[in-house]
Amino acid sequence: MHEMAITQSVVETVCERLEGAPARALTLEIGRLSGVVPDAVRFCFDMAADGTALAGARLDITEPDGRARCRACTNEFRLDDLIALCGCGSADVEITGGQELRIRSVEVL
Ligand SMILES: [Zn+2]
Repeated sequence: MHEMAITQSVVETVCERLEGAPARALTLEIGRLSGVVPDAVRFCFDMAADGTALAGARLDITEPDGRARCRACTNEFRLDDLIALCGCGSADVEITGGQELRIRSVEVL
């Protein structure tokens, strides 16, 4: 599973930075266009965190909306999927948000 590998690498990264200090909570930002399913990450988290500094930590996930900007008319709009098409008919659209996959904060004990 895609999300298991992602969750494991997040847990590894956090544990490396914390150098073994136990954490109470972890907040991740997973954009709606990132292709990562937050529920699957939640499901994998306890397993990935088991035996690490993140064991028993709370996982919070924020899900920023997809955002795009049209290069033809400079209109900015919300994007629900990766099919980027502006209302003006142009498909020359730059995705400006929603593809994030990052660690937002870690609360240490
Ligand atoms: Zn446009």
